[in-house]
Amino acid sequence: MPLHLYNSLTRRREAFAPADPARVTMYVCGPTVYNFVHIGNARPYVVFGVLADLLRRRFGALTYARNITDVDDKINAAASEQGVPIGAITDRFAAAFREDMAALGVAPPDIEPEATAHIAQIIAMIQRLIASGHAYAADGHVLFAVGSFPAYGALSRRAREDMLAGARVEVAPYKRDPGDFVLWKPSTPDLPGWDSPWGRGRPGWHIECSAMAEAHLGKTIDIHAGGIDLQFPHHENEIAQSQCAHGGAPFARFWLHNGMLNLDGAKMSKSTGNIERLRDLLQRHSAEALRYALLSAHYRQPLDWSDALIEQSVRTLDRLYGTLRDLDTQAEPQAIPQEIEAALDDDLNTPQALAELSQIAGMARRAGAPLTRARAKGAMRAAGAAFGLLQQKPEDWFQRPIHASLNVTDEADTLNTYGAVQSSTEQIDTMIRERSEAKRSRDFARADAIRDALAAEGILLEDTAQGVRWVRKRV
Ligand code: AMP
Ligand code: ZN
Repeated sequence: MPLHLYNSLTRRREAFAPADPARVTMYVCGPTVYNFVHIGNARPYVVFGVLADLLRRRFGALTYARNITDVDDKINAAASEQGVPIGAITDRFAAAFREDMAALGVAPPDIEPEATAHIAQIIAMIQRLIASGHAYAADGHVLFAVGSFPAYGALSRRAREDMLAGARVEVAPYKRDPGDFVLWKPSTPDLPGWDSPWGRGRPGWHIECSAMAEAHLGKTIDIHAGGIDLQFPHHENEIAQSQCAHGGAPFARFWLHNGMLNLDGAKMSKSTGNIERLRDLLQRHSAEALRYALLSAHYRQPLDWSDALIEQSVRTLDRLYGTLRDLDTQAEPQAIPQEIEAALDDDLNTPQALAELSQIAGMARRAGAPLTRARAKGAMRAAGAAFGLLQQKPEDWFQRPIHASLNVTDEADTLNTYGAVQSSTEQIDTMIRERSEAKRSRDFARADAIRDALAAEGILLEDTAQGVRWVRKRV
């Protein structure tokens, strides 16, 4: 069965093939960089990262663009609050985002365009929209005239009244229609701005993505993806701008939307503060457990984030790595097993694919002959690779000095850089070995003293069936 994807535009599962057999094009809306990302923001990048790998396997070439929104009123607000130029905020949080993604095992996209590097293309697109009667300048602003695009609302399938309510539209005197949205707005001298035919100003958020997608991927792209919260108004507006700027050519052939990740029953959201920062989670948990947790639900479904979900993921990975460790043989390299590929071809059914992975592990546990064991181990490794899982040595997983890969100077608001703290890891491992020896020689007083000494530093030991595991408690 060929790859099928659920297309939000048609509300149907459809067989996917690129328009140009020589390459697939995919654009995913990237973060607005004014703060650290939360685990909900990571969901689209993990999920569509797995899709990117799948597309490369199926079709050979993929051009994957994921932008950085580095001009936005939330950024301006953060910069003025902290008394720094916007570049100080955006550089810092774009770097933090890249670090967080790398730590989570999310490969960078092929192209990572930044909005501020595309002001000329944005202005040119706005000029084309004005020239074709789809936009108008008024009072230093340029607005898109929604009435000029009869298909407006086709993606979100909202009635006009709902669209107005959903967008919490600003009724402004310069708007011809309350649904018209901003393409360009004037900047006061204290705000970032660029010269334009309409005076010094800055772009609206929606036009940035349309202009960057056009600049890097062309007029019609195969796949456009992002969270369902962006479907309206952001994606609806992207479609209106791009199609009208391109004489009606379709903007994206497939629209993919991930469901929201919830915390305590409500959407995880930067604006409400109901968040778990990815960076904080990475200090407490292994990246693999977080990836497993994110992929354990189908991407279109909502996902309730909880400690129990992470623990469940850790237990599953313990079992899988336990199997790999028990297969004490070299893995025979394999292709990703067919049953995993088939589940992923079914609209990226990662829960099904992960169930297949557990089945493969079950068979591996029953494997007897050396060759069968080597194959089984290879199949498990290959299956894990489809999700960015099971690629470390089992010993490393079970040692899991989770925090050793992170610098734990955890001042919540400073930009932490990840770096190995090799020496302290070695010291801890040495002390744990000494404690094990003390226990073996029944010197429990010494074993306890070592444990207490580590605890005083915030290092907590856990005796598990697989050996001693340690975590560094956050201070
Ligand atoms: P933002 O920086 O807010 O534009 O968000 C970046 C990406 O994260 C977008 O694709 C959003 O749709 C997505 N996103 C934001 N909040 C959540 C959430 N709670 N669950 C899943 N995805 C989210
Ligand atoms: Zn976008």
